[in-house]
Amino acid sequence: MNVLKFGGTSVGSAENIKKVIAILDSYSQKESVICVVSAVGGITDKLLRAGEFAQQKNESYLSEFKAIKEIHLNLLSELIPIQNDAVKEYVESKLTILKSLLDGIYLINELSPKTSDKLVSFGELLSSYIVAETMKSQGLNAVRKNSQDLIVTNSKFTKAEVNFGVTNMNIREYFKNANQKITILPGFISKSDSGEITTLGRGGSDFTAAIIAAALKVNRLEIWTDVSGMYTANPKLVKQAYPIERLSYQEAMELSHFGAKVLYPPSLQPVLVLDIPILIKNTNDPDAHGTVITSDKSNGFSKAAKGISNISNIALLTLQGNGMIGIPGFSKRLFETLAQEKINVIFITQASSEHSICFGIDENDASLAAESINLTFENEISLLKIDPIIVEKDLSIVALVGDNMKNHQGISGRMFSALGKNNINIRAIAQGASEKNISAVIAEKDVKKALNTIHESFFEDQTKQLNVYITGVGNVGERLVEQIQQQKKYLKEQLKINLRVIGLSNSRTMIFDESGLSLKSWKEQLASGEKATLEGFLERNKSFNLRNSIFVDVTANEEVSKVYADYLRESIAVVACNKIACSSTFENYSNLKRLSVKYNAPFLFETNVGAGLPIIDTLNHLIASGDKITSIQAVLSGSLNFVFNNFDDTAKFHDVVKQAQKEGYTEPDPRIDLSGVDVARKILILARESGTKMNLEDIENDSFLTENNLKSDSVDDFYKTLIADEAHFQKLYASAKKNDCQLKYVAEFNGENAKVGLKEIPSDHPFYNLKGKDNIVMFYTQRYPEQPLIIKGAGAGADVTASGLFADIIRIGN
Ligand code: ADP
Ligand code: ASP
Ligand code: MG
Repeated sequence: MNVLKFGGTSVGSAENIKKVIAILDSYSQKESVICVVSAVGGITDKLLRAGEFAQQKNESYLSEFKAIKEIHLNLLSELIPIQNDAVKEYVESKLTILKSLLDGIYLINELSPKTSDKLVSFGELLSSYIVAETMKSQGLNAVRKNSQDLIVTNSKFTKAEVNFGVTNMNIREYFKNANQKITILPGFISKSDSGEITTLGRGGSDFTAAIIAAALKVNRLEIWTDVSGMYTANPKLVKQAYPIERLSYQEAMELSHFGAKVLYPPSLQPVLVLDIPILIKNTNDPDAHGTVITSDKSNGFSKAAKGISNISNIALLTLQGNGMIGIPGFSKRLFETLAQEKINVIFITQASSEHSICFGIDENDASLAAESINLTFENEISLLKIDPIIVEKDLSIVALVGDNMKNHQGISGRMFSALGKNNINIRAIAQGASEKNISAVIAEKDVKKALNTIHESFFEDQTKQLNVYITGVGNVGERLVEQIQQQKKYLKEQLKINLRVIGLSNSRTMIFDESGLSLKSWKEQLASGEKATLEGFLERNKSFNLRNSIFVDVTANEEVSKVYADYLRESIAVVACNKIACSSTFENYSNLKRLSVKYNAPFLFETNVGAGLPIIDTLNHLIASGDKITSIQAVLSGSLNFVFNNFDDTAKFHDVVKQAQKEGYTEPDPRIDLSGVDVARKILILARESGTKMNLEDIENDSFLTENNLKSDSVDDFYKTLIADEAHFQKLYASAKKNDCQLKYVAEFNGENAKVGLKEIPSDHPFYNLKGKDNIVMFYTQRYPEQPLIIKGAGAGADVTASGLFADIIRIGN
């Protein structure tokens, strides 16, 4: 004998009911089967809603009823196409009774728990009837038996308790004499000893099946649903979740208690006592392995944590006060009060100081709980010994579950540090002494992120997902997107990084895809994207609330640089090639650094100096390893190199600058390069990263330009002054030539002060042979006192800058 239970989704459509019948048919070829069915998917909710409406004198109950009626009649006509009047009449007569019941509720304006049970019982009664009649119409040897004749309970309506003595006897008696191959029974519903309709609690069809399986001591109980077993986390919230092959009863109990809906918690009890294995199977994929749940605890040694579950709508209540310390009886009175009000406590923690007790309950019970507790402790509250109870709402519990967690160190540390890194604030923690379960109370809005974060940390082959938001898709940004697309596969396979671009924006439009944009067609998508704003971009980022998020600024825009702080405060990392933030006031720079530490969100800007060259990273590593920077000498401007490499007595200075601008080596306003401001910003950043508090004004800028050049108030005007002052530039060149030197624009930092300016470089100096747009940096440190650490290479260009940004993103991944 086999006992199979099919849930609401399994009987939710004609197509699925056909699958159910095929499964039952094939089982019944070998031995007889007992099949427990839920109401058609969604019907229990609809019935309850119709009841609520009717009770509130809201005529919407009629449209709910109409929908319920249509769903069942449509199923019938699809499943039994050849008109069977008797069957149709039966269903219609049941629906008529249902309608009268609802009308009654509407008239008297009242819905008692007793009537509610009567109301919802129609769901399972109808579904079981339709399934049985369909089977009969196909010539199968099936009989429907009403479970209300078998399962006897007390009169605790909506969640009745089973009288196992009578129930077991009824079940054994009935099946002893039953000779049909297939028996269909409605789940969830039962009858009190005085003959009233009762139900076993929401999700109770599992329980019905377990009661029958236990009464008949069958070899195993099969729960058929719409997923292939109990997953490592709710598959609707965690995409990477996968079915767990084996679980112990305790693990399944913990997981289902904390919200893994596949199994209704009490349903395990009857089968657990008898050591009957439970198999969870998928109606849509009968060949999938599914999950086997047994008493065997040894199956988990390879993996300490087995799954994560979550439960929503939690309110956290805290009772605290100095009057509680060392005085016994507070918790007893507290929990007695809750018990009297029949409030289920889901979660408890007490600090060892005994100064407070904190517990989690269903949010719907919160006001009742608060009122009755304040009443219980009225006296102590009025004497200021304890505070009125504190209620916090909009919370959820996430729990990591596994029998063998107790044998492994560091599991809770890993769980909480993963949550912390993603800025998920933990309101309370509980870990049972048995260590089968570590639970944390967090804000409802963080649940998805928390589940995914913990899942990544415990169940995913260490593949890390990075979620990137890029703003600015000009030259450099475009290359970056290309590089990401090209390297995606490599990153996944070799570095175990799953890099996804979630948002893209330019100054006009922006686009998003929570599961990763398709990078093949991003340009077309962006062209027809929604209107871009900086606030909108941040808001979307916040609303997705994905773990390991990175904001990438590929603009040179001051407004964009002002939003970094907002991102960091959300624990979103910031990667920027925009130099403005790091070369703004020291206060702003250090504030961003502080936020980065505080919110555990990296702030990386390697490309601010020398494009893709690993200059800042090297500097940071030197300092982190205990070295001290004594001085820095550098050539940091690709534009000025270009200019002075091409300028001699055969060329006019004006023409060379024009050419540099034309070829894209200077900023649109060449004065920013030629005045030395850009280089000053770069050495400022290096000085700050070396640990010196400095501002741009503190940098000595010994300009090689003439007063006229510097006073020009437009780019055109500037070019005119270059022509007028040609002699000045020729003089600079002649002097260098006479001394057998090259002109280079040099930035220097001596450990305290910094300066920038044009220098004559002798032929034995490392700067002498610097070609094209190359940059060079020489670090003199305590460990490199005479021979400096030198970094040299292309210091400008879209490709190298994009790869520098890319490297920062990967650094965060690692
Ligand atoms: P049924 O109608 O078959 O009783 P339920 O809706 O009660 O099905 O339970 C199955 C659903 O439980 C799945 O569709 C899934 O969305 C949800 N669920 C939540 N947590 C888990 C988990 N850890 N593993 C599998 N399913 C889960
Ligand atoms: N139909 C009931 C419910 O939705 C019982 C069940 O499906 O298990 O709660
Ligand atoms: Mg269920």
